[in-house]
This record gives sequence, C-alpha cells and structure tokens, in this order.
Amino acid sequence: MSFLKDALSIFKKSELVFIEKIKESEDVYSFLFKKDDDLTWKPGQHGLFTITHKKIKNNTKPMTVASIPSENVVKITTKIGDTPSDFKSALLELEAGMKVSMSGPVGSFYLKDESPTLFIATGIGITPFRALIKQIEEKQTTSNQFKLLYFASQNEHIYKEDFKNFDVDYITTNEQLLQEIDEYTEKHKDTGQYFIAGAKAEVHMLTEHLKSKHISKRAINKNVFMGY
Ligand SMILES: Cc1cc2nc3c(=O)[nH]c(=O)nc-3n(C[C@H](O)[C@H](O)[C@H](O)COP(=O)(O)OP(=O)(O)OC[C@H]3O[C@@H](n4cnc5c(N)ncnc54)[C@H](O)[C@@H]3O)c2cc1C
Repeated sequence: MSFLKDALSIFKKSELVFIEKIKESEDVYSFLFKKDDDLTWKPGQHGLFTITHKKIKNNTKPMTVASIPSENVVKITTKIGDTPSDFKSALLELEAGMKVSMSGPVGSFYLKDESPTLFIATGIGITPFRALIKQIEEKQTTSNQFKLLYFASQNEHIYKEDFKNFDVDYITTNEQLLQEIDEYTEKHKDTGQYFIAGAKAEVHMLTEHLKSKHISKRAINKNVFMGY
C-alpha cells in the first residue's frame, strides 16, 4: 500500500510561494518557498517543479527537496552557470510572493531502516543528503552509523554549516573518494547500505566500483541527476 501511496503522490500538485534565494557558492543557488500545511515528503525525495510566471520551453524539471518538512520551507538547490537554461533563468527572476508549482513528492531515495549507511555525493548530488542528514539529526538516530563522502572541486562544497555535527569527509580527488569507499566496504561489507547521488557517469562509475567490492545491487540506492 505504501508503494501505491508513493506512486499516486505524483498527482499531488502544490503552488509554492517564493520567499528568497541564497547564493551557496560561485554558481550554486538555493531557492526557498513557503511550505503549505498539507504538503509533506520523505527526506531524499524530489518534486517536479514547473515555472508558471512566464511561458518557456521545458518548463518542468525534477529537483530534489533539500529541506525537511519541519523546517517549514521547500528548499531546492541548483547549479546555474554563465549561460543558464530558460528554466534556471526563470528561477533567478523570481521575486518574493511569486509562485512555482510542484508535483509530487516522488522517488524512493529515502532511508528505509537504520543500518550502517554510507552516503556518497558528487557535486550538486549533495542536495538529497542535506535532507537525509537533517532527518537523522532530528530523529537523533545514532549518527556513528552514518557517514557522508562529499566529492566536489575545491571551494565548491556547500551546506558546510548544515553538516557541522555530522561525520563528513570533504573530498576533491577521485583517488581519495575510492580509497574511502574501500575502507567503508571493508568494515561493513554487505551489511551496510549505500546511497549515491550525482551526475549519471559518476553514479554509474561508483556503482560499478561498489559491485566490484562485492556489494550487492540490493544495498545500493542510486539517485541519477539526469540533465547533468
Ligand atoms: C531525481 C532527480 C533529482 C534532481 N535533483 C536536482 C537538484 O537537486 N538540483 C539540480 O540542480 N538538479 C537536479 N536534477 C537535475 C535537473 O532536473 C536538471 O536536469 C539539471 O539541473 C539541468 O538543468 P538545466 O535547466 O540546466 O538543463 P538543460 O536545459 O539541459 O540545460 C543544460 C545546459 O544547456 C545550456 N542551455 C540550455 N538551454 C539554454 C538556453 N535557452 N540558452 C542558453 N543556454 C542554454 C545551459 O548551459 C544549460 O546549463 C535532478 C534530476 C533528477 C532526475
């Protein structure tokens, strides 16, 4: 039944009122919207966000909700370069009080139990982990069961303030990332859960690496940010 409930939530549509944007790093911005009382989601899930204040092509994109319901805001975070798409230009134009719409929440990238879990984020793939970590801290789950490996270029790690009480390694090289994954797999083997989020090529490479360490597919949860 819970599967059916999850599948049907795609039909739920919410109008979200824009509050403010926050510059997280050189080319990464967060957008905060008011959360209606009847809107909720499981930390790690995403919504389908639609631009409604102007007509553009490709006006709907999946975006992870990086906040948790008790923060009372819907927070999305995205990378916006020098030549943004129409969708991202429209996000940058939002002013307080304007609206976007969100369908969902959707997706199965959320914690199912409290077994030892390694979170692996590459680049903007960090967004679901902000929500997952906030949830763990809120529930006061024994956090030594959890660890985040956060791979990004120098000076591009965001949310540092949100992660200050969590076991996080900020990583800038492939070698270090693979080495730290190997240390974790050695220790926890198949009893652990593995959550990976980021661009398709990186998620694929990391999944294959875990499989080569005899981690079963069942223990690997993937969130591929199609479009990067
Ligand atoms: C489950 C899921 C969760 C996701 N969560 C997130 C998230 O939390 N954060 C996030 O950022 N992304 C997330 N994504 C990816 C997101 O949906 C987008 O695909 C991604 O952000 C790229 O969007 P875009 O508008 O830049 O893409 P595109 O429209 O594909 O554009 C790619 C690039 O092409 C160029 N371009 C496109 N149109 C124009 C134009 N009109 N003029 C000039 N240049 C142009 C720009 O350089 C642009 O950056 C998620 C995807 C999935 C499937």
